[in-house]
Amino acid sequence: MTPTTNAREFERARHAMPGGVNSPVRAFGSVGTTPRFYVSAKGPRVTDVEGREYVDLVGSWGPAILGHAHPAVVEAVREAATHGLGFGASTPGETALAEHVEARIERDGVRPVEKLRLVSTGTEATMTAIRLARGATGRDLIVKFAGHYHGHSDGLLAEAGSGVATLAMPGSAGVPAPIAAQTLVIAYNDLDAVREVFAVHGAEIAAVIVEAAPANMGIVPPRHGFNAALADIAHAHGALLIVDEVLTGFRVGPAGWYGEDPVPFAADLLTFGKVIGGGLPLAALGGSTDIMNLLAPLGPVYQAGTLSGNPVAVAAGRATLENLDAAAYARIERASTAIADAASAALSAEGVTHVLQRAGSLFSFQFAAEAPHDYDTVKAQEAFRYPPFFRAMLEHGVSLPPSVFEAWFVSASHDDGAVSQILEALPHAARAAAA
Ligand code: PLP
Repeated sequence: MTPTTNAREFERARHAMPGGVNSPVRAFGSVGTTPRFYVSAKGPRVTDVEGREYVDLVGSWGPAILGHAHPAVVEAVREAATHGLGFGASTPGETALAEHVEARIERDGVRPVEKLRLVSTGTEATMTAIRLARGATGRDLIVKFAGHYHGHSDGLLAEAGSGVATLAMPGSAGVPAPIAAQTLVIAYNDLDAVREVFAVHGAEIAAVIVEAAPANMGIVPPRHGFNAALADIAHAHGALLIVDEVLTGFRVGPAGWYGEDPVPFAADLLTFGKVIGGGLPLAALGGSTDIMNLLAPLGPVYQAGTLSGNPVAVAAGRATLENLDAAAYARIERASTAIADAASAALSAEGVTHVLQRAGSLFSFQFAAEAPHDYDTVKAQEAFRYPPFFRAMLEHGVSLPPSVFEAWFVSASHDDGAVSQILEALPHAARAAAA
């Protein structure tokens, strides 16, 4: 049998699936090379169908925070699977996971997650949070920020980050205008814009939704006190603040960005995904008992899911969270700093204008002279420098996110060996970016 190649697999995939993928960014469209088809992953490395190994800085877009196929997570999954793949009924494990999250999201004695509802994807978590905010306030309008990504539900695709930004789409076809009109999109990090939108529409706004620390237009940290001011303004108008921690939750610290923001903020609803499922489909939303109890079966806001709280996914999530201790966070921080600083130094050595943007251990580079603070300034960068940078890293055995609008995901398994492989590749990539 002829050994397969990435090119052959992509060709075959394109006949079977739109664009050959099940999520647009995987098509490598914006980096101009053939997507890699993976067959296995272990620790900080992934292996493609050609048998090539790469040090991975995608980490399954976040979930693989302990490294791929962490033994404790694999064992928990194996053990859970032997007892049944799913029951469509309640299990003790769901309660244990909810209790863990409720206790873990804590700052200065405040625990904003008093009740948790498990769903299967981050998209469902934010979609449900919005329905809940509308149910709680009896209002329809939602405020979101340009460049923030909250999944692919109809109302949240306008000027979204992540794959929508990569494809340079203003939104999506198929979203009815009356639905799009329920979302007011404003510039990020701009409190005047927030005050203005509330001055005009205050009585009709159900909620503001915000990425706790935006990571889907590259990293764009919130200005000092932005989240806290956002909560104050929303609350002054009787609206809720939905803080989307699907990406930052359990990654930037044990209590997510909620626990790390230099200025503590109040959150009415928080959404989680990625790390909470340890690599399997699991996400969640949480908030105060008063608000969460508006969900069915107690309240009038409907939400349900055949696979919600799936026992195998819950087992993976619990094992991941249990192993995310102080030592794991310290390893992630150390490796992130080493990689980020080396990449910045390599780019500087080649005279490539760039800014290193960080939010805790999350980081990315923007090819601009000044740190972008919103979607417009992000889009003004020299994005054309990223594809050659990306391809050179790939050629030298490092898999980066295939878009300039994504964060680099470091795991607790990025040991000295993995970090030095990245450091060796960087000068080649910086040279390619300079050309
Ligand atoms: N919210 C944020 C901040 C995200 O980064 C993402 C995904 O990248 C989502 C929501 C959607 O999550 P999912 O892809 O699991 O639907």
